[in-house]
Amino acid sequence: MMIKIAHLYPDMLNLYGDRGNIIALTQRMRARGIDVSVDQITMGKSFNTDDYDILFVGGGQDFEQDVLLDDLKKGKDIEIKRAIESGKVFLAICGGYQMLGKYYKTYDGKMLEYMGALDFYTEGKEERMIGNYAFKTKEGIEIVGFENHSGRTYLGKGVEPLGTMIKGYGNNGEDGTEGVRYKNTFGTYSHGPILPKNSKFTDLLIELALKNKYGDVELTPLDDTLEQKAQQQVMNLYIK
Ligand code: GLN
Repeated sequence: MMIKIAHLYPDMLNLYGDRGNIIALTQRMRARGIDVSVDQITMGKSFNTDDYDILFVGGGQDFEQDVLLDDLKKGKDIEIKRAIESGKVFLAICGGYQMLGKYYKTYDGKMLEYMGALDFYTEGKEERMIGNYAFKTKEGIEIVGFENHSGRTYLGKGVEPLGTMIKGYGNNGEDGTEGVRYKNTFGTYSHGPILPKNSKFTDLLIELALKNKYGDVELTPLDDTLEQKAQQQVMNLYIK
């Protein structure tokens, strides 16, 4: 089996070790004998979503999000929408997550019109939402992460949240939701990076990608003792 990953804007959107998500995906697939390739889709480079099984984009500062807007609108937006609608597995973190919505109005009033691939919008405030946090998905997977964002995201009716908050701010600090979920696309404010800290969530993404490509595939379990202990330690130290 072979899984191909497209890493969007790896040089522009990479905060708090977001690149570690690619490493976690790759390692947990290789440990199961699955071949993995990763292509870096930088500014100026076009891509065809049909060539990939998993898409990933990290977070960034308002400045980088503004700089890459032109590039996004030169065709990557169309491919990203196509990927999302066709059910590709897509993980988007923080600034990259905001990019999938309708717009991001920065705290200092700059309007970044995004692609509206998903039904939500984001508005920034001067006071940032920062800290270790945790939330729970509808499968009951508990996720620990780290958030640092000025943007408050408000979901529309066309999407569901990725999880409900256990502790921290999440989408907007008001409605108890975190992230977004639509088909096999997952957006979250969780840096950290999220996947090495949360192996069950990593495996969910891998399983979905394999199912898309090869039909009903059962994931071989891996020995997760250390990963689970590390996650528990974070929960005990910062969350509970
Ligand atoms: N620049 C965005 C914000 O502040 C995203 C930040 C991030 O990716 N950590 O909301």
